[in-house]
Amino acid sequence: MSALDPSPWHGQAYSTKRHGTSIANCDSEPVQTPGCVQAHGVLIVLRPETLVISQVSENALALLGHDASSLLGQTVGVVVGVPGEERLRTFLAIEPVECNPLYVFSVPGAEGQLFDVTVHSNGGVLLLEFETTGRLASAAGATGVGAEPDYDALMRKSVVRMQGARSLQQFCDITVDEVRAMTGFDRVMVYKFHADGHGEVLAESRRDGLAPWLGLHYPAADIPPPAREVFKQIWLRPTPDVGGALAEMIPLADPATGKPLVMTHCVLRGASIMYTEYLQNMKVSAGLTMSIRQDGELWGLIACHHYAGPKFVSYPVRTACEFVAQVASLQRRSAEMREQLESRLRLEEVHRQLLSAASQVGELADLFNGVPTLADAVPCGGVALFHAGRWWRIGETPADVDLDPLAAWVALRPEFLAATSPIYATDHLSANYPAGAAISSVASGLLAVPLARTQRSLVLWFRPETLRTIRWAGHPDDKPSVPGPNGLRLTPRASFALFQESVRGRSAPWLSFELEAIARLRVAMLELVVERTEKLAAFNADLLRSNEDLDAFAYVASHDLKEPLRGIHKYAHQLQVRSDITDEEAQRQLGGLMRLTLRMDGLLDSLLHLSRVGRVLLELAPNDLNLVVADAIEMVGSRLDASRPEFVLPRPLPSIECDWVRCREIYVNLLSNALKYSDQTDKRIEIGWIGAVEDHPRPLCPPGALGQTIFYVRDNGIGIAARHYDQVFKMFRRLHTRDAYGGGSGTGLAIVKKLVERHRGQIWIESEPGVGSTFYFTLSGEARQL
Ligand code: ADP
Repeated sequence: MSALDPSPWHGQAYSTKRHGTSIANCDSEPVQTPGCVQAHGVLIVLRPETLVISQVSENALALLGHDASSLLGQTVGVVVGVPGEERLRTFLAIEPVECNPLYVFSVPGAEGQLFDVTVHSNGGVLLLEFETTGRLASAAGATGVGAEPDYDALMRKSVVRMQGARSLQQFCDITVDEVRAMTGFDRVMVYKFHADGHGEVLAESRRDGLAPWLGLHYPAADIPPPAREVFKQIWLRPTPDVGGALAEMIPLADPATGKPLVMTHCVLRGASIMYTEYLQNMKVSAGLTMSIRQDGELWGLIACHHYAGPKFVSYPVRTACEFVAQVASLQRRSAEMREQLESRLRLEEVHRQLLSAASQVGELADLFNGVPTLADAVPCGGVALFHAGRWWRIGETPADVDLDPLAAWVALRPEFLAATSPIYATDHLSANYPAGAAISSVASGLLAVPLARTQRSLVLWFRPETLRTIRWAGHPDDKPSVPGPNGLRLTPRASFALFQESVRGRSAPWLSFELEAIARLRVAMLELVVERTEKLAAFNADLLRSNEDLDAFAYVASHDLKEPLRGIHKYAHQLQVRSDITDEEAQRQLGGLMRLTLRMDGLLDSLLHLSRVGRVLLELAPNDLNLVVADAIEMVGSRLDASRPEFVLPRPLPSIECDWVRCREIYVNLLSNALKYSDQTDKRIEIGWIGAVEDHPRPLCPPGALGQTIFYVRDNGIGIAARHYDQVFKMFRRLHTRDAYGGGSGTGLAIVKKLVERHRGQIWIESEPGVGSTFYFTLSGEARQL
């Protein structure tokens, strides 16, 4: 057996009394099979069918007057008498004793003291526990239970008070008061486990003169995993005499199977040496611990300490306490929910408003403009939405350069990828994400949810760092060891001196109801997005159909109208040249008629052109826009007047997939308008672009154009009033008299708009009268910087 072997009893039955001082690793201590009982009581193990004794604790002689070894193989009647054995049989036939110790009767011990007998079954054997009551058999009534307070009434009162709690704190305060009143311990605490396993005293009721432990934190190692595991299975654990001896089972293992005896539910179960030493270091002489559970997990403990010698808790009190622990487990949740009710309702209302806004707005990004915004969806310092290829931010958030790598990291979290309810939340980002340290002032807390199934779209809520001081009862890293028979063994901390730790990089925690509400909001938003996409698709199909109809009609109409128009023009001309019509007035009217027919012919040509633009097949190919623009400048250049306009390209244009000829037509129209609608002598026309993910203001950008490369033509001309922004794109719409600014048919921009839309792009204006106009447009194809 090596000194480093963590379980030197490996391969043989374990006894805390014999092997416990070898503990080198608390996590492997077999606390459910200690092979020993606390020596104030006797444990007798019986075969369930025959009630024959198979194991017995070595103190049977001292307490019950029967030599342990001589009891083996005999029926239990030897100890409890034949009527007792009969009562036990009847009891077992009707009571549910599986893992559930129940009181059967009381019997006198070797020295006249009274023992309460409880029985339960576990692992195929019956466990009969004899516990001293502290009273003499002669002083007790016939039932063995003396005049005790009415615990039922006490318990009912406690439960009613606990049910009335309006907050978690109030609930904990009531619980410690009630348990202390019922048990008489010197100190009763509610001890809550935090997510990292360490504990905090949330409430305390204590006898005068004791130092307060309220608010103190205890390291996770103080209650090792095996002990926590037990508390998931039992409600109550008494240690009435911390300094008391242990009595070993004889034999240690079941003689029939060789298996150790599972004592999880035994009230007499021998406590681990580590635990009793720990309590002794705290000067605790007796203890009682109850579990508070939530969904099968250990939420916390109700810990009772006594300092003035042993303290036995009678069976009725224990039953009452057990009931209180069960009620506490249920009521704690409801007290917490009551406390959060107001915040819950407020959050639900904000989410309702957000969803109703989301159902009306065109884009998710619009949720950043209204009241409420996404930043109100959960208490936070700021929120960032990645959508349509860029970041949208409100409040205190990291900058885009920090958001990009953070989003990439979050996107790979398993919680974030979960099929149901993908959500990642932390109140200590830098603990998992090292780069988080640099942004911890605004982003110690992060709550991330994906917003779309297919495209990369996510929301990140941030919480700032909250500086906290944790008051530890002793140094959390204190792991002392002492020499033992098998080398060094662990020993519990001896020091409980206050140790203050300033905690950095933490935010206020995300509460479970907040996470649940956000998960629901996400699902509702997804539904909206899907619904809107479907509606939009149907709407687009309709639009496409009616556009096609309109184009066909315009073509037929303009084509067919040209024929009679040519006739009218021809006859007017013939009339004009007839020698017999000399009347000046008639000649003037005929001249007017011919001008009008020419103008109408021009309009019909434009209409024909527009309808052709709508129907012609685009020849899409990657085109260098610098060449397209150079071509367009050359074409408008031929129409230039004496003024020498300056064409400026701040940087080379990218290449993009488009139809060369149509794209040139867009530029020709925009450039010629920029030249036309200007009174300046030094005309300046800027032809530029904004990259899809460039950090650049896009004030009037329609949502559909977000995340796309934007092209623009900017002039320093006469400008356009905002109320005309939409007008100018309509067919035959001019803002001036027919011949002002070199005349025009009012069709140029309508054709430009159509060409842009044929490229699945959008066009819009930013302009100020007297200053100049900028025409922005997108072409939807993928741009490549040259
Ligand atoms: P047209 O130039 O034939 O009138 P357009 O459709 O090209 O037709 O333009 C419609 C109207 O929009 C123009 O009449 C003019 O009032 C206005 N407009 C177009 N471009 C500009 C510009 N760059 N600056 C100011 N106004 C403009």
